Parts: sequence; C-alpha cells; structure tokens
Amino acid sequence: SQSSPLLIPLGCIHRVMESTLTARDRVGVQDFVLLENYTSEAAFIENLRRRFGEKLIYTYIGSVLVSVNPYKDLEIYSKAHMERYRGVSFYEISPHIYAVSDNTYRAMRTERRDQCILISGESGAGKTEASKKILQYYATTCPVTDHMSTIRDRLLQSNPVLEAFGNAKTLRNDNSSRFGKYMDVQFDFRGAPIGGHILNYLLEKSRVVHQNHGERNFHIFYQLLEGGEQDQLSKLGLERNAQKYHYLVKVCVCVCVCVCVCVCVCVCVCVCVVILTVMSCTSQGCCPRVSSINDKNDWKTVRKALIVIGFHEEEVEDLLNIIASVLHLGNTQFGEGEDGETQITTEPQLTYLSKMISPLSFEQAVAARDALAKAVYGRAFTWLVAKINQSLAFKDEVYNSSKGSSSVIGLLDIYGFEVFQHNSFEQFCINYCNEKLQQLFIKLTLKSEQEEYEAEGITWEPVKYFDNKIICDLVEEKHKGFISILDEECLRPGEPSDISFLEKLEETLGGHAHFVTHKLANGKTRKAVGREEFRLIHYAGEVNYTVNGELANQSVNSRTAGSSDNQILSQCFHREEVTTQKRPETAATQFKNSLAKLIEILMSKEPSYVRCIKPNDAKQSGRFDEALVRHQVKYLGLMENLRVRRAGFAYRRRYEAFLQRYKSLCPGTWPNWQGRLADGVAALVQHLGYKPEEYKLGKTKIFIRFPKTLFTTEDALEAR
Ligand code: ADP
Ligand code: MG
Repeated sequence: SQSSPLLIPLGCIHRVMESTLTARDRVGVQDFVLLENYTSEAAFIENLRRRFGEKLIYTYIGSVLVSVNPYKDLEIYSKAHMERYRGVSFYEISPHIYAVSDNTYRAMRTERRDQCILISGESGAGKTEASKKILQYYATTCPVTDHMSTIRDRLLQSNPVLEAFGNAKTLRNDNSSRFGKYMDVQFDFRGAPIGGHILNYLLEKSRVVHQNHGERNFHIFYQLLEGGEQDQLSKLGLERNAQKYHYLVKVCVCVCVCVCVCVCVCVCVCVCVVILTVMSCTSQGCCPRVSSINDKNDWKTVRKALIVIGFHEEEVEDLLNIIASVLHLGNTQFGEGEDGETQITTEPQLTYLSKMISPLSFEQAVAARDALAKAVYGRAFTWLVAKINQSLAFKDEVYNSSKGSSSVIGLLDIYGFEVFQHNSFEQFCINYCNEKLQQLFIKLTLKSEQEEYEAEGITWEPVKYFDNKIICDLVEEKHKGFISILDEECLRPGEPSDISFLEKLEETLGGHAHFVTHKLANGKTRKAVGREEFRLIHYAGEVNYTVNGELANQSVNSRTAGSSDNQILSQCFHREEVTTQKRPETAATQFKNSLAKLIEILMSKEPSYVRCIKPNDAKQSGRFDEALVRHQVKYLGLMENLRVRRAGFAYRRRYEAFLQRYKSLCPGTWPNWQGRLADGVAALVQHLGYKPEEYKLGKTKIFIRFPKTLFTTEDALEAR
C-alpha cells in the first residue's frame, strides 16, 4: 500500500495506570502503548491473550478501548462496579467500558462539548453489548427526575424493539444486528438524560426473503408466531407454526436415488449405491428454534417495550399486519395461466394481499414478490425508527428548566470491516463505511494531537502514515468514482448489465493503485480475481467483490403499496413516489449520502473509540483463537493505531502529578518543590539522567517518548 507523509503531530499516549507498571509481568500491560516491542503483532496478540486468560477483557491503546468478547457473564457490570468508575480518572483504575462511559460523560459536562463513542468490530465481537452497557451506565448513574425517568426508560426500551425487528440469528451471532445504528443521547445542564435520536443504516433486507443454512429471519417473525395470542394470529390469518412459511423455513426435500446393479453369477449380488441428494433445502435457514433464544418471552418483552415507548394499539396492529403480510407474500406461488401468462396459484393469500402482479414471467414474478417483501419490511423498519424517535424527542415544554443548554453523547454501533469468500454489494457498503470511519479517525486524531501540541507549545514533526483518502475517493469521487459509474450504469436506458458495468469500471478505474480486475496489463489473466469480480485494496486488506446481479437490486420498485389502507404502509410508500416516473436514487448513492451525514455528525463531536474482538468462532468462553484474533487486529487497524499513538510520546502527564509521584527520587525535589512546577520536573529528570531525546517539557505536561524510560523510573521507585 501507498504511504503518504501527513503532517501528524507526534503521537499521544497518556493515561497510564500506575498499577500497570507493577503488575505488568503477570497480566501484560493494560495500555498497549507501554509495550516494549510495539511494532510486533505477535507481542500485541500475546498481551491480549495473557490478559484474556486472566479474564481481563479490556485493554487500552492510549484512550482507545480494546475489548475481547468473554462469551460469559464476568460479573463486572454490577451497580457496585458502576460506582467504582464514577468520577475516577482513566489512569487510576483498570480499563473498563464504564471508564470510557464515565470519561466521556465527564468530558461532556466539564468541557460542554458533544461527545461520541464509536464502537466497531466484526459480527459477534460484542459491539451491541458494549453500547447497551454504556446506555445502562448512564441510565443508572445519571441524575433523573420523574419526568426524565420516562425518557430514560424509553431509551432503554428502544433496544428490545429494534432488536426484534433488526436482529437475527446468524452463524456468527445468535443475536446479530442486521443494521448499523447511531444513537444520540441528549443530556440537560444537570447531566440528566432528556432525549434521544436514532439513525439507522443499511438494514439487511435480503434476509427477509432468504437466509443461509443455520440462520434465521428477523426475530420478530418467530416471536409473533410463538408468542402471539391465538385470536390475534387468526385475525392475521397466521398459523402458529414457522414451518408453514416459506420465508421462515422451507421444508427440506431429500431425494434418495438408489441405483441397484445386479450381477448374476449363480448368486445375485446386489450392489446398492445410495446417493443422497439434498435438493432445494438451502433456500432458507431451516432453524426456527434456537436454544439461546426464547421467542415467547422475547415477544412479551417487545410488547411491553412498545407500550413504554408509547405506541398506540392501532399502530401495533398495523405493524403486525405488515409482518403477517410479508409472511403471506412469501407463500404466494405462481403457475402458468391458460394463455401462458404467470398467475398467482395460491388463492388464500389473495385475501390478504391486494393486486400486485402485472404480466411477468415466472422468475420475474418471484423476483417482484421478493423485492416487494423486502421493500415493505425495510420501510416498516424505517417507520419504526421514526416512531421511536418521536417518542424520544426532547420536549421543551416538559423540561423547560433546561432550555438551551443541553449536550449530546452519540453511540455508534456499526459493522466492522468484512471479508468473506464471496463479497457482495452489502460487504462493499460495510467496507466503504469503515474506510470513511478510518478517515475520520485520522482526521480527528490529527486534530486532537495538533490541539494538544499547540496548547503545550511542543514542536511536532511529520510522521509517515497511510492516508486512506485515496480509497474513499476511488469509491465516492464525482463523475469518476465507483458510485458515480454505478449510478450512470443504472440510469442508462434498458436493463443494466453487470458485464458492461465491470467494463466501465475497468475503463475508468483501471490502473488505479487500489482497483484490480482479472485483466493484467500484459493482456494475461489474473487468476486471483474472477471474471465477474473486481478487487479493492482497502486500508485493512484486499477484498474481491462479485458484481453478479447487484445492479438489478439497486433501484426499488415502490409502485405497489402506496395506496394501502394500512396507515404505516401508506406512510412508508409516499404517493408522489408511487406516481412519479423519475427513477429513485440508487441504493449506493443513498448509502453514500447517509454516510456523509453521519461523518458530519461525528466530526462535530469529540470521539472515543471501542474496538471489539471476537476470540473464537464457536461462541465459547475461555477460548482464544490466535489466528482469528490476528485477523481482526489487522482489519481493525490496531497495529497502525498503536503505531501512530507511539509515533511521538508514549506517555504524558501533568507536572504536578509527575512531581508528586517521583519527587522522592531526587534530593532537590524532596520533600517538596517550592519553585515553578516545570523547573521542578526539569531538575528531577536531569537527576534521573533522562537524555534530551527521551522527553520534552510542555507548558503544563511532561512528554516521555519511550515506555522504557518510565519503567526504569518506576523500578527505581519500587526499589526504594
Ligand atoms: P456484535 O454486536 O458485535 O455482533 P454482540 O454485542 O451482539 O455482538 O455480542 C454477541 C454475544 O456475545 C452476545 O449475545 C453475548 O452473548 C456475548 N457478549 C458480548 N459481549 C459480552 C460481554 N461483555 N460479556 C459477556 N458476554 C458478552
Ligand atoms: Mg450487534
């Protein structure tokens, strides 16, 4: 990859915990910046592994929290634990998600600056759990009055509702969020929660009509079937049996073919070759029941949560009608009519579905049905989020005492970098999102570094650092970026074609350092990239994407549901959109625009980072699979993160704290230093024999370049 020298101020490392220094041999370091061999990935992983073995799942990289999913309750999230972290500085206590929560909260209150906490990691790494723990921390520790307790409860209860509609069991996580989420929590001048707002990103709508083997559709379908009352189900025309619904379970059809070869030589020898061919089993997940999930109980939780959030009974009815209609839609089957046209052959479904099928081929009819199901579900989800937002909105008339002086903490729970055997448009969007967040990380790190160095009057020097702007541009640049080319291809008259799209990409982006196809410059073929693929060289690694069928999925047909009686549906499919002939924006452009807005929101806030790691693929506690962890350390960009943090100084501390701790090591500063603090620290480090290249003195802080210097000083202190 290409390196561009950016003017980065010397890296910042701070908030070292004193206890780190003495206990470091047993449990490694609790801040990676103190690793002696900080460029070694092996040393990094060894530190994580050691700590994980001691049930220490949290470690810092400076102020970034790295968290490893323990897959069991470690009993470190009690109210007593929350109390321990209240108002305590980062470096005085062991790393914890509560330390990040509390620090962020205090920064918001004291500096009156909006904050955000960015949580990333791959599926199953613990992002959603982390964001819930942060929210619980605020719900428990922040001051509230009666009025505010309503908002607090609604904030907490929005989780089970969104999880019911937006989470599903996947192979990697039994409760996997299938959408990205950004949530603002608004606090008044006393630091009490007074409102909230949620933005949702890229719901995985394809799951509504198709799931891989061993996975499920969104939880809500099973919850309704398991937990819904009998007369409610009857009203919706549903049976309490997920097996009945094509979108939930497709019955596996196993065909046994027995080939008997009989050879008669006096005796008949019969050789039976049994070939088991599993046919048409793979269309759906085939697992309505999951041991870790209790759909019936979850249904009760969701129903209660809907009430707390303030849904009217009719709205709940409408919502459930939509869920039911998606199931009915899935069971709609097609056959050939007398004149060869495609007809709906399943009569009962027509009672629940209004007219929707124009003259189409069989395949087109199935595709149209599935597209409609996805669109209906996707928009119902968007409506649900909007409804929750209405209920969380800050109401001035109720809290007029806190007018004008509120601040915000934003929580971003969003998918990490993904690379699979086959990567589609969805992975493309997810990885593009991660590129943008990495850009943000660079910009904000730069900014805060620059601010601190300027404030301290310390000179800074350029540090080599890979700037991934070049990849962001490759995707989003006007006229010649990937998304522009995709838009153009979709807007061309006639059916968009994957092959011509690939050719167009090749024409415009061929030769770009981060874009590769199967064609080599010498006219030969590159084997590692398929003919229907292109490869992007992301900041975190290389990914091949398949373009197969992606173009057709770009535009949404919304001409159907706009005039429905169902209030939610008709709101979701606006009338103008239904009647207009204009092509809607492509999904890629929509995503690009919503990402740009998200970045703008995050840019206006002070960020904290939580990086989540999954220790094994078996969802097992106590197992640390090094190869899997190494992969994530790479894709989360943690080594690069550490390198930047270590580029300058490993440690920084305010003069009074530094003097207080080490003054006994120098006769000139012991027992008390009377002069200027900076002079005291200068006398102290001179006595300790610090070399000029090892440290710098700022206006209020000392900056130490290497951990070794600090460790030596600590050892001297211990030896006394
Ligand atoms: P992600 O949102 O990153 O996909 P989740 O937050 O849903 O992952 O976590 C997956 C599962 O891992 C959870 O359902 C829970 O069982 C377990 N888990 C995650 N974080 C923790 C934690 N801090 N303590 C105990 N178990 C956890
Ligand atoms: Mg999640």
